[in-house]
Amino acid sequence: MLKIKKKLAILGSTGSIGKQALSIIKTKPDLFSVFLLSCNSNYMLILEQANQFSPKHVVVNTMEGYRFLKKELPGSIRVSFGLDSLCDLLKDGDINLVLSAIMGSAGLMPTVAAILGKKNIAIANKESLVVAGELIMGLAKKHNVSILPVDSEHSAIFQCLVGEKHDKINRLILTASGGPFLKKPKHKFKDITVKEALKHPNWSMGNKITIDSATLMNKGFELIEAFWLFGLSEKKIDIIIHPESIIHSLVEFVDGSVKAQLGVPDMTIPILYALGFPSRINYPFKPLNLVDCNRLNFSKPDKKKFPHLQLAYNCLEKGRGATCVLNAANEVAVDAFLKQNISFLNMFNLIEMSLEKSIFVNNPKLEDYLYLDSETRKITSELISKL
Ligand code: NDP
Ligand code: MG
Repeated sequence: MLKIKKKLAILGSTGSIGKQALSIIKTKPDLFSVFLLSCNSNYMLILEQANQFSPKHVVVNTMEGYRFLKKELPGSIRVSFGLDSLCDLLKDGDINLVLSAIMGSAGLMPTVAAILGKKNIAIANKESLVVAGELIMGLAKKHNVSILPVDSEHSAIFQCLVGEKHDKINRLILTASGGPFLKKPKHKFKDITVKEALKHPNWSMGNKITIDSATLMNKGFELIEAFWLFGLSEKKIDIIIHPESIIHSLVEFVDGSVKAQLGVPDMTIPILYALGFPSRINYPFKPLNLVDCNRLNFSKPDKKKFPHLQLAYNCLEKGRGATCVLNAANEVAVDAFLKQNISFLNMFNLIEMSLEKSIFVNNPKLEDYLYLDSETRKITSELISKL
């Protein structure tokens, strides 16, 4: 069979997902070439990556980074500055697959641009689906673009659905590790430090998603992500706690049969699947040893202890841009917690208060989402300044 080399754009190449993707790509020059790399401000790392992968384009978000890279990179690599340049390249560039791995709602516009440019997308940036899932999935359908999940739970479901019919799905079951505070009593949450919250039991990830995993906001976002990716009502999406992170998620069908995807907790597996789709890529892996696992545990999530989860269900049901508000308030709150300006528990209250103060919009369009995002950021920041 003739192999077509995929030309890739890696958005957020300096992040946890971006770096893991590049370490796969490095070993598969027959399958992949890199057209574009992008980052926010880490120009030293992207310089190294650009020298190694020789992309056609590098995009950076700071003027300092732009000047530095212009000086340091060979003329064969074009250096561009900022979001607008990135969006233009994604629309018009010679790209087969975009790995959307920017952190936060900053990933929305590039994701939309890539869809408008009819580029298939491997989506790690779940926040863009939380902010504007309806818009993204609508545009993807219109432009005949595939949105391939990178998140391990959604990759698991996607893999379970191969060869299945949508109307035969009865229920999706998303698994959650429960994060570092699964067993910590709620009355001790007030003392949680940033260092403790950044210690995820199973996964090594960027700081923001690690905090989201500690509050279970991440699982709330994954509920919303699953809602849009798989087109099922939230009533048909269950969440169970599974601290070992071996079963990555499950699908129950109308005849009672349940399929699951298992593996060691390693993001390389879902990244490989998304990059290679529809083929699987041969790759050295750490085998799953079920005997060593000994026991796999399951329990119901405690929505009273982790109210972020209930907020995600509520916002999804409410619509009118509520999940966009949820995401923006969460981004501001997590950032403030990481900077040690607020406590772990403050994050819960701030999001709730932001939702109460926010405006909502019927049938939001792209500009409404951008407006809601920026207004909510102001509201949450103001609430923080009054704490
Ligand atoms: P990181 O924080 O490690 O990396 C984020 C990347 O996005 C960096 O390259 C960063 O550039 C870039 N970036 C940040 N802000 C901006 C901005 N405003 N404009 C342009 N680029 C920006 O995050 P992760 O890799 O952990 O996560 C990326 C996405 O993948 C998130 O949406 C997350 O939810 C999702 N995800 C991650 C998983 C993981 O295991 N890490 C698992 C499942 C999903 P710079 O380095 O210059 O700051
Ligand atoms: Mg996940």
